[in-house]
Amino acid sequence: MAAPMDVVVVGGGVAGRSAAVFTARHGFDTLVVDSGESILRRNAHLENFPGFPAGVNGRQLLDLLEEQASDAGCEQVTATVTRVERTDEGFAVETGDGDRYHTTYVVAATKNAVGYLDGIDGVGIIDRGKAFVDTDERGRTGVDGLYAAGRLAEKPHQAIVCAGHGAEVGVTILEDDDRPFYHDWVAPDGYFTERGRDLPPGCEEIDEAERTDREARSLDVMGERFAEPHPDEQVTHPSLADE
Ligand SMILES: Cc1cc2nc3c(=O)[nH]c(=O)nc-3n(C[C@H](O)[C@H](O)[C@H](O)COP(=O)(O)OP(=O)(O)OC[C@H]3O[C@@H](n4cnc5c(N)ncnc54)[C@H](O)[C@@H]3O)c2cc1C
Repeated sequence: MAAPMDVVVVGGGVAGRSAAVFTARHGFDTLVVDSGESILRRNAHLENFPGFPAGVNGRQLLDLLEEQASDAGCEQVTATVTRVERTDEGFAVETGDGDRYHTTYVVAATKNAVGYLDGIDGVGIIDRGKAFVDTDERGRTGVDGLYAAGRLAEKPHQAIVCAGHGAEVGVTILEDDDRPFYHDWVAPDGYFTERGRDLPPGCEEIDEAERTDREARSLDVMGERFAEPHPDEQVTHPSLADE
């Protein structure tokens, strides 16, 4: 049996992987289980995601997010979650491949897929033709330890909104767990400590040499990732696929 996780994120679109980046960066053992069918794969050119003035290939953005989650320490598997159930310690998450993961927290970020939540009492499912999960503003479902993020939590249907909500759900888990945490900031050397403050938990101060190294690495990585058009084909609506 796999080692118990702190967080299992079901669904690795923009919402799920954004949540995972925050929990993993703060030391939670985080696993993303994703079936690889983010609706963003159907986008033709993503022009309203802040930070990309000429737009960006949506499939490229998903790849970058997956890479960022790995760099943050997440484990990631490609599989479909078929069932989540309560256990004494939290939850068990089962996949169609027969794997079973134990975890304290679950983030459901599967857009409109909710069948795998059938085994948990108390999850509010909203049926408006498509299914959504009832949550408070921070993604709490009312079942302790179970959160929903992004479109599944009825957020507006834009990638940045769903990514932002995923990040917020990640931070909410840190807060609900009472994990020592302060904003997840990387600050210049001395920003806190030279003002007589302890370095807050979850923050980092870096000096100029380290800053230069990190910027150089980011230039290398982004230069490489954007050197060629993204290789994946445009995905269309399933009902148009054979036409
Ligand atoms: C044609 C089209 C064009 C679009 N263009 C834009 C645009 O220009 N700008 C914009 O902001 N937004 C656009 N969007 C919307 C945007 O893609 C979504 O709002 C956003 O992707 C929602 O993020 P999410 O993480 O909630 O869901 P998703 O990105 O869909 O991620 C959900 C993930 O859950 C996984 N999953 C589902 N069930 C399971 C399961 N049981 N087990 C494991 N994994 C599972 C899926 O494989 C998927 O990866 C477009 C959408 C479409 C269809």
